[in-house]
Amino acid sequence: MKKKIVVLGGSFGGLTAVLEIKRLLRDQADITLISKERDFVFLPSLPWLIMGSRQARDITLKIEDILGPRAISFSCSTVTGIEPDRLKVITDNGDYPYDYLVISTGPHLSCDEIPGLGPEGGHTLCTFTLEYAQKSRQAWLRLLEEPGPVVLGSTQMASCFGPYYELAFEMDHELRRRKMRHKVPITYLTSEPYVGHMGIGGLGKSRRFLEDEFAERDIKIVTNQSIDEITPDEIRLAGGQALHFKLAMLAPPFKGVAGVAELGNPRGFIPADEHYRHPQHPNIYTVGVAMAMAPAESTPIPTGVPKTGSMTVKMAKAAAANIAADIRNQPPLPAKPLDVICLMDMGKTAALMIADPILPPRQRSCLKKALWAKWAKIQFEKYFLWKMLHGYTNLP
Ligand SMILES: Cc1cc2nc3c(=O)[nH]c(=O)nc-3n(C[C@H](O)[C@H](O)[C@H](O)COP(=O)(O)OP(=O)(O)OC[C@H]3O[C@@H](n4cnc5c(N)ncnc54)[C@H](O)[C@@H]3O)c2cc1C
Repeated sequence: MKKKIVVLGGSFGGLTAVLEIKRLLRDQADITLISKERDFVFLPSLPWLIMGSRQARDITLKIEDILGPRAISFSCSTVTGIEPDRLKVITDNGDYPYDYLVISTGPHLSCDEIPGLGPEGGHTLCTFTLEYAQKSRQAWLRLLEEPGPVVLGSTQMASCFGPYYELAFEMDHELRRRKMRHKVPITYLTSEPYVGHMGIGGLGKSRRFLEDEFAERDIKIVTNQSIDEITPDEIRLAGGQALHFKLAMLAPPFKGVAGVAELGNPRGFIPADEHYRHPQHPNIYTVGVAMAMAPAESTPIPTGVPKTGSMTVKMAKAAAANIAADIRNQPPLPAKPLDVICLMDMGKTAALMIADPILPPRQRSCLKKALWAKWAKIQFEKYFLWKMLHGYTNLP
C-alpha cells in the first residue's frame, strides 16, 4: 500500500521536502503539503522590497503552480494540532492521516513578550513576512519625507540577524545617495554579545569586519542588550538606557508555531536527532526554523542559532532521503554536519560568508567583501525561484 506522507509549511523546508520525496519515491507515496499561505515568498529578498528594488510579484510563486504539475496535493489550511499516537494532523480544514510527517512551519514571531513590540498594535516594524515588509516599505517612505533616527536590530531570543545587518547597510547607502544621511542617525541594536556574532559565535574576522564597516558608515552599535518595553518613540533597555527613534525595525523573539509546539521544547521548537527524526516519534521529521538547535555558546542575553535558507534546504533533502530509505527498509543516510553559506548585501557591495560547520570550532570560515558577491546574490534569487518553480531540488 502507498505510504501517506504529509508535509507542513510551504516555504524553503516544506517545498524542498515534498519535491525531493516525489523525486525519490515517484508513485510509491501519496504526498500532501499543508500550508496556511497559498504563496511561496523568497524571504531573503524582503529587505530589497523594503528598499523598493523588488515588488511582491518579483519574489512570489503560487504553491499550486509548483505542486500541481507534479501530482502533489496541496491544502491551504492552518495546522492546529498533531496527534502522534493517532497519526493525524488536525487543521482548520479537516484532519490529515499520515505514515510519515515532516514539520517545517518556521517561527512564531513572539512580539507579545516585549510590551510595545511589533507591527500589530506595537511601535516597531519587522521584515519577516511579506505583509510586514510591505508595512516597513511604507514606513521607510514616510521616513524619507520626515527624516529622524532609525534603530535596526534584534530583541532577546531572536535567531535571525542577517536581514538587519543588510538593512543597516542598504539604508545607509540609499540615504547617502539621496544626500540626506546626515539627517538620519542609524543605530544597530542587538542581543548579540558583539556585532558579527550572528548567533553562531561569530565567523572568522566577522566582529572586526562589521565593527570597521559600521564605523566607516557612522552606524552606531549597541550590543548585549535586552529590551524592557517600547513606547511610540523610545526603546527602553533593561540596563536603563533609552534609544529614541522615528523608525525601528527589530527581529522579535522566536518561538515554535502553536499547532506543532506541543511536540517541542518549552519554546515550542521541535527536537530532532541527527537524521531530523523526533526522538519519541521516529516517523515525524522536523527541518528548518521549526527545529530545536542548541545555542553556539551561552551569551549574557539569549540569542538563538539562525537556521538559514541554505541550511533548511539541506535539512529537508536529508529528511526526504531518510524517509525514502525507511520506506525501502534501508538505514538512514550518514548524517552530515550542517554548514552555512550566506551572501550579505551591503548596499553598494556585498559579502560572502561561509561557516563550515555552522558552529565553532570550524574546518573553514570565510568572509569576503566583493562586488561579485552582490551580483551573485542578485543572480541567486532568480536561480532559486526558477529552480523551485520547476521542482529541480537535485540542483545545488
Ligand atoms: C528577511 C529575511 C532575510 C533572509 N535572508 C536569508 C539569506 O540571505 N540567506 C539565507 O540562507 N537565509 C535567509 N533567511 C532565512 C530563510 O528565509 C529561512 O531560513 C527559511 O525561510 C526557513 O524556512 P522554513 O521552511 O523553516 O520556514 P519559513 O520560511 O518560516 O516557512 C514556514 C512555512 O510554514 C507555514 N506555516 C506556519 N504556521 C503554519 C500553520 N500553523 N499551519 C500551516 N502552515 C503554517 C508558513 O505559511 C510558511 O509557509 C532570511 C529570512 C528572512 C525573514
